[in-house]
Amino acid sequence: VINCEPLKSLIRSVPDFPKSGILFYDITTLLKDKAGFAELIDAFAQYYIGKQIDLVLGIEARGFIFGPALAYRLNAGFVPVRKPGKLPAETITVKYDLEYGSDSLQIHKDAIAPGQRVIIVDDLLATGGTMQATIDLVKQMGGEVAGIAVAIELDFLKGRNRFPEYDVCSLLHYD
Ligand code: IMP
Repeated sequence: VINCEPLKSLIRSVPDFPKSGILFYDITTLLKDKAGFAELIDAFAQYYIGKQIDLVLGIEARGFIFGPALAYRLNAGFVPVRKPGKLPAETITVKYDLEYGSDSLQIHKDAIAPGQRVIIVDDLLATGGTMQATIDLVKQMGGEVAGIAVAIELDFLKGRNRFPEYDVCSLLHYD
């Protein structure tokens, strides 16, 4: 993988957002930097080019920023994984636990054909709960999870240990 560490200087960390005690890594400061944004997408593209990716799945909302740019570079399709009630046609739903309570994600029933090779994209991997739920959706539909791509990984939360059978491409690490 390309060394993206210098891009860390473009990530803004915001204390106590969205609530007290949470340090939020904000990618908007990277997105508006033309060289930084290009470097990030190039790094993902270099990692996946030649790996026969059929579809890029983006998780709402920040997976919708990186996912389509990467799909374009890979000649792959893009599929949105959304919060409940947003997709218009028939959907499949997965429910997953949060620290307090639970949340759900949906995908269109016809979004993935059996055997298609899929990568799942999000901005950040924390506990891995969101990613695990999305992996479950892909598997339910008979898709093959060819990889997991995140811009930022919070290493200390060990989210990737939840899915040792999958390849995780994460470009920036925080401990
Ligand atoms: P997880 O399910 O605990 O891995 O949390 C990952 C999800 O929460 C992703 O969809 C992220 O977009 C979001 N998230 C958690 N922490 C941050 C952060 O510091 N910055 C941006 N997004 C975050």
